[in-house]
Amino acid sequence: MRFSGLRVLKEGLTGNKGWGPHWRDPEPKAEYDIVIIGGGGHGLSTAYYLAREHGLKNIAVLEKGYIGGGNVGRNTTIVRANYFLPGNSEFYSHSLKLWEGLEEDLNYNVMHSQRGLINLFHSDGQRDAFARRGNAMINQGDDAILLSREGVRKHLPYLDFDNVRFPIYGGLYHPRGGTARHDAVAWGYARGASDRGVDIIQNCEVTGIDREGGRVTGVQTSRGGIRAKKVAIVVAGRSGQVAAMAGMRLPIESHVLQAFVTEGLKPVIDHVISFGMGHFYISQSDKGGLVFGGDLDMYASYAQRGNLPLVEHVMEAGMTLMPMIGKARVLRSWGGIMDMTPDGSPIIDKTDIDGLYIDCGWCYGGFKAVPASGNCFAHLVATDRPHPAAERFRLDRFRTGNGLMDEEGTGSQHNLH
Ligand SMILES: Cc1cc2nc3c(=O)[nH]c(=O)nc-3n(C[C@H](O)[C@H](O)[C@H](O)COP(=O)(O)OP(=O)(O)OC[C@H]3O[C@@H](n4cnc5c(N)ncnc54)[C@H](O)[C@@H]3O)c2cc1C
Repeated sequence: MRFSGLRVLKEGLTGNKGWGPHWRDPEPKAEYDIVIIGGGGHGLSTAYYLAREHGLKNIAVLEKGYIGGGNVGRNTTIVRANYFLPGNSEFYSHSLKLWEGLEEDLNYNVMHSQRGLINLFHSDGQRDAFARRGNAMINQGDDAILLSREGVRKHLPYLDFDNVRFPIYGGLYHPRGGTARHDAVAWGYARGASDRGVDIIQNCEVTGIDREGGRVTGVQTSRGGIRAKKVAIVVAGRSGQVAAMAGMRLPIESHVLQAFVTEGLKPVIDHVISFGMGHFYISQSDKGGLVFGGDLDMYASYAQRGNLPLVEHVMEAGMTLMPMIGKARVLRSWGGIMDMTPDGSPIIDKTDIDGLYIDCGWCYGGFKAVPASGNCFAHLVATDRPHPAAERFRLDRFRTGNGLMDEEGTGSQHNLH
């Protein structure tokens, strides 16, 4: 099923009765060349690029729940290429370029909206850090504009500029940053992969990884054993658990990250904004809801919901920055499980077990990475060589200490990568 303006018009006039399922619902086969564990954004995009760019078709994506039920459908949808450090900088730049052609490539409306992202700063020191980040972005070929306080006011007149504790000094503007509709991204990749012959198998939990003589031979699942020449683990917050099935201990902790959405309001916030002195960021969805979030809950957990002190912290930060949102009613809050690495940067690598590959460690920022992660992981799985845009995402950096992507070795923090 393809989308076109004519088709949308015809369906609109005939009660939308002609739309079919977007992807096939096959029974699992006994054997595949490649089994991908995890049908989130990264697993589906990996399958898509394996089929599209490497001509491989005998592939299954095994998802324990349903497509879009994990973090790919739980995030706050921000897409940007404003990373500072080598390794991340080129990777996210590659990802944003893929985003810019994604709707045409997938023939799917993922509602990618480059409405611009403004990171606010509130001190001279922070201005210097953002100027340095902006220069790194420009050197990478991406866009960055350092805004003065008056420059920010032109875009975002409703902020509290003179807050006594955190006055706004200016902002780093990234015009190509923005948002996309998260679950449409999963659906678009699922349809694209299925069209190319990939079997997407939902309600199929992997419970074991089979090995023989240092080589992977298949997986055990809630729907029986499946043999495979290669197995790719892409399970985000569950990475530690699934890797343990192959006897591996990953440098990953799983933490909860919460998000919130208000009732629908008239259009008011037409950028993505992040507060520089507290953990708060916000955008407005196309339905009018204010979508916002803050920091991790800061305790390891597999629960997809968070705690109240963090809710209070996020609301306080929001009120500090834009007191006008105080009257908006919060409709929903939820949580997702974040796969946090010690340096806040991901892993896309082979493992010590032949035929077993891993893509994880996306922390709180893996939605924007979906296209490049799939593209680079597919390259690795198909060719056994790292993609140039992801060659620093090695697993052994955490064992050797070489190549950690953390400028000061102080751990994962938003402003350090
Ligand atoms: C509240 C929140 C806000 C966020 N905001 C942003 C943002 O604005 N921008 C951004 O870039 N990133 C953001 N993120 C991060 C981003 O959502 C994640 O990094 C990214 O989605 C993770 O990759 P994924 O889509 O593949 O994960 P998932 O969708 O979680 O996919 C992993 C899949 O693996 C499946 N699975 C697990 N175990 C098994 C098993 N044993 N067998 C079979 N299947 C299994 C799960 O069911 C799941 O569907 C946010 C995350 C959250 C929770």
